Amino acid sequence: MSVAREQLVVMKFGGTSVEDATAMERTAAIVAGRRKKGLEAIVVVSAMAKVTDQLLAAAAAAGRGDKAGALAISSRLRHRHIDTACELLDEQRFAALQVAVHQELDALDDLLRGIAAVGELTPRTGDLVVSFGERLSSRMVAAAFDQRGLDGTHVDARTCIITDSNYGKAAPLEAPIEAKLTELVLPLIKAGKTPVMGGFIGSNAEGITTTLGRGGSDYTAALVGGGLHAGAIEIWTDVNGIMTTDPRIVPEALRVKTISFEEAAELAYFGAKVLHPATILPAVQKSIPVWVLNSRNAENEGTKITAVAPPCKSPFKSIAAKKKLTIIDIVASRMLMTHGYLKAVFDVFDRFKCAIDMVSTSEVSISLSVDSNERLPEICEELSKIADVKMEGSKALICMVGEDIRGHNGIAGRVFSAVSHVNLRMISQGASEINMSFMIDEEDVEEAVRSLHKHFFADPDEAIFDVSVRVPVESKA
Ligand code: ASP
Ligand code: MG
Repeated sequence: MSVAREQLVVMKFGGTSVEDATAMERTAAIVAGRRKKGLEAIVVVSAMAKVTDQLLAAAAAAGRGDKAGALAISSRLRHRHIDTACELLDEQRFAALQVAVHQELDALDDLLRGIAAVGELTPRTGDLVVSFGERLSSRMVAAAFDQRGLDGTHVDARTCIITDSNYGKAAPLEAPIEAKLTELVLPLIKAGKTPVMGGFIGSNAEGITTTLGRGGSDYTAALVGGGLHAGAIEIWTDVNGIMTTDPRIVPEALRVKTISFEEAAELAYFGAKVLHPATILPAVQKSIPVWVLNSRNAENEGTKITAVAPPCKSPFKSIAAKKKLTIIDIVASRMLMTHGYLKAVFDVFDRFKCAIDMVSTSEVSISLSVDSNERLPEICEELSKIADVKMEGSKALICMVGEDIRGHNGIAGRVFSAVSHVNLRMISQGASEINMSFMIDEEDVEEAVRSLHKHFFADPDEAIFDVSVRVPVESKA
């Protein structure tokens, strides 16, 4: 059988979509639905919810020499996986999987004992420890799919996702990945199977296990989609896609049906935690659309992320807010913004590994915003050697994103009149020209977001936003 690439869909399920037998059942039903539509699915799964954190805790305990603590965590993981498999599978499949799960966990125990004996955890060994989460979940999901008529076949992701040796955050090597996927995964699809592989994990050229960094399963999905030139990538999570703002602040928030990669990237940076856009870049670069979908509400159409945004009548797509920020005002005293002054200021932040969110400058002063953290007093002390420094905490950043503010005059005026009753601090329009941000007091966030949402989403463009959930005006009474 040949495979039409547009019929190929990479479906990634996050930790909550495989957290227990019920979630895995739901996942199987979603995949069955895609197959019924005539699509060929390749499935990428995260570790069961919280397992990665627990493996990291076990590794850390072993690294401190706490063998008993590490093995206790591993024992809980063993029970959880065995119990889930037992609930999920028939007798025969359970018997086979049980053997595999015990083998994996025995290997993990050996590893933890070794780490504890040496009392040292290296990044390389740490990657090997955390890899067990996805190794186990992918085996289980494959067996569950097999039992449910989906021809599930387990693929060890480490055979395909080839990376460099930067343990903990390895960089994928796209050419070898494409070659391996073509050699090992494509034939399975051609044979009508549903390949199931763990996200997040890979191996270097020597076959040593690596990981792509936290949240790396989305990255795996994009790499697999890119490598096989799939027609679409679906990121199944537990929210209805990207919203016009946080529904906990504005219950009338709307689902954004389609958004550009750049817009999604800006939003993620400012706190909308749906997915980390850098991880889907391999797909976007190949113009493969990425969908964000809700595995608990499979009927919902989610959000489609594309390289180029379709035109939208509303200037903004979404409003994000990020709290717990501090503004630092730095007024040049002695050096009066001379050559090298800015560098000296930024060097201080660099030395403390403190990331800066927003910068605005005037003739003699610089204002910066940073995540509030306990090292700020030290940073300010350093800075005060070259400038007068003032620090103000409990600030928040409001970030409004939309490609359609480009070239629009008067948008800033509308934004500021919508929030004229709150006190604005630093204001910036990012170099990307698709975001408008300003700082306010943390306590004003809810009020500001509500006013802005009311102002800019009162008459939403129905091609871009899902207005079907809105209560019709007549029935409101
Ligand atoms: N399991 C990994 C993590 O929790 C990767 C992922 O879920 O994307 O970071
Ligand atoms: Mg995740």
